Amino acid sequence: MSATPPILQSLIANRWIGSQAARALHSAVNGRPVALTHADEIDFAESLSYARGQALPALLALDFQQRAARLKALATYLLERKEGLYAISAHTGGTRSDNWIDIEGGIGTLFAYASIGRRELPSSNVMHEGPAIPLSKEGQFIGSHILVPKRGVAVHINAFNFPMWGMLEKFAPSFLAGMPCIVKPATATSFVAEACVRLIHESGLLPAGSLQLIVGGSGDLLDRLEETDVVTFTGSADTAAMLRVNKNLIARSIPFNGEADSLNCAILAPDVEVGDPEFELFVKEVAREMTAKTGQKCTAIRRAIVPARHIDAVAEALRARLAKIKVGDPAVDGVRMGALASKAQQADVAERVALLSAGNEIVFGAKDGFAPVGEGVGEGAFFAPTLLLCRDAFANEQVHNLEAFGPVSTLMPYQELDEALSLAAKGRGSLVGSVVTKTPAIAAQAVYHAAAFHGRLLVLDRDAAKESTGHGSPLPQLKHGGPGRAGGGEELGGIRSVKHYLQRCAVQGSPTMLSAITGEYQRGGRVQEDAVHPFRKYFEEIQVGDSLLTHRRTVSEADIVNFGGVSGDYFYMHFDEVAAKDTQFGQRIAHGYFVLSAAAGLFVSPAPGPVLANYGLDTLRFVNPVAIGDTIQARLTCKRRIDRGNRPDQPPQGVVAWDVQVMNQRGELVASYDILTLVAKKPA
Ligand code: NDP
Repeated sequence: MSATPPILQSLIANRWIGSQAARALHSAVNGRPVALTHADEIDFAESLSYARGQALPALLALDFQQRAARLKALATYLLERKEGLYAISAHTGGTRSDNWIDIEGGIGTLFAYASIGRRELPSSNVMHEGPAIPLSKEGQFIGSHILVPKRGVAVHINAFNFPMWGMLEKFAPSFLAGMPCIVKPATATSFVAEACVRLIHESGLLPAGSLQLIVGGSGDLLDRLEETDVVTFTGSADTAAMLRVNKNLIARSIPFNGEADSLNCAILAPDVEVGDPEFELFVKEVAREMTAKTGQKCTAIRRAIVPARHIDAVAEALRARLAKIKVGDPAVDGVRMGALASKAQQADVAERVALLSAGNEIVFGAKDGFAPVGEGVGEGAFFAPTLLLCRDAFANEQVHNLEAFGPVSTLMPYQELDEALSLAAKGRGSLVGSVVTKTPAIAAQAVYHAAAFHGRLLVLDRDAAKESTGHGSPLPQLKHGGPGRAGGGEELGGIRSVKHYLQRCAVQGSPTMLSAITGEYQRGGRVQEDAVHPFRKYFEEIQVGDSLLTHRRTVSEADIVNFGGVSGDYFYMHFDEVAAKDTQFGQRIAHGYFVLSAAAGLFVSPAPGPVLANYGLDTLRFVNPVAIGDTIQARLTCKRRIDRGNRPDQPPQGVVAWDVQVMNQRGELVASYDILTLVAKKPA
């Protein structure tokens, strides 16, 4: 490290700002200065004006699919440069595996959102949340919902514990939604966020201004936000409580998504005995959650709720595990737990442990020979793993209210499952809870009650254990965020989090109008029919609404017999005249799958052509029976087309979904579904 640490810079309006030193940020491992924050003032009016005037139009010039592709390219770019990020992250005090969560977990979230976007979003900026709802008898007045970019700015205020993951898990869905972001990382670890934003900026992969960075305070930024903006926050409940009542946010109804303190619990269910694999799993999970990232995870287990008859056995098993954990400079071989993020955190955790231990037993802690290893660690922010035991957790409110954001957890005994669930609820809303049981009925009962107080619940047993991602890991596909004290917000959860950054609007009108608005053909809307069969057109030539009304076919008994022979399906409804008479149809009817197959025979264009594959059906319903002698006819209409760009490993192609209606001779719908196809693009 150089003698003079570098001055961190903010990225505002596509310019790096910061040449005057402000405060020093120190290595959590040995206290040496790592970087300096800057004293230069940020002009937040300029930052917002750049986001609105430059970044927003550039983001909206891309569609959802194109932004998803940029996210993927960015994830690849960062992954190739991860070692530099590991080097700088070492100063946060985390081990390589702690920093893996932050760095590769963050990059993984970008990859995940790139693929969620690719699979679930259209190649436009209008997301249709269908299906449309009929609002009239004749079918010419329908309603539906669309989601469109909010045309505002997303302000993300992040916690110190995961400077990279915390930033990217909020950025990915905002960017996909088409919102420029202004990120304010926690100052203590802002050197990691700055290094990451520098790489992102250097990559040139995102439109300028997609991501602005504030090192230091956020000044009057919140006071300058407008109705179309959003704020998301992760940090302490106190700061959340203060920021969410910002006058400007309230006056303009600006959404504030909060994620704050959470006294997460793990319950060892009453059915588990000492010696069961589940007993060992519980102990392992608690120990892991206490020590991973030195316990500085918003999801860490703070309260371990255990049957009273096992409390001493669990305490002993945890003691034994914690005693084996080597604490110190993560660069030293064998170290499994590093430092807290800063001296300030060290003091804060010490103060909270002192409060928590009042009236409780210390099962394991600093008294048990705590001696961090490594050079200069005396100046670091180390803290002993500390396990407390609260024998009467109904009488002690502190253990449910006070979060020591470090390697600290409290054991608490219970008699009956109901009691365990009441203790869990005393957290007044948590991000995550675990139930460790071997009995499905107990899992069902516990989850039913605990779900009202939790954002996520992990049920751990011997079957899930080998592949479980663990209590403490939020996943991009699943919701992260909990009710009540946990902040009441929601992040991640697949496409849900993209929707948080979009505006939903209900639209009503005729099917033709809604087809144009949603970019998806709505039944009853006008179609185009021309001499060229839709399957003979390249992707670029197909328009939503291109349609084909097929010739007809009369279904005979021979069709049913043949289809039964080919498929082996001799269900009585198709083959037993007597039994079929007693059914609601009063006669033998054709197989639904025959109707599907026959419809394909009616609408396909058999010669080789641009349609490359049929990869599935959606929303299939057999609406009315088809009897022997009925005549069927199909209408095939282009419902939706998605251009996912081109991949080097595939011929250029797009996705086309076709709306299929199969009717009988009376014009009644007998089958209804969407066919999903891949269609080649025009040769260059
Ligand atoms: P804070 O709430 O103090 O800080 C969180 C973020 O808010 C930081 O970026 C901080 O910036 C920023 N901030 C603070 N004050 C303001 C303000 N007036 N206007 C705008 N931004 C502001 O939490 P800490 O990071 O200090 O952590 C304190 C405690 O919070 C922990 O001990 C733990 O209990 C809890 N916590 C909970 C987490 C969770 O995910 N549930 C995660 C992290 C912490 P700056 O750093 O510049 O002050």
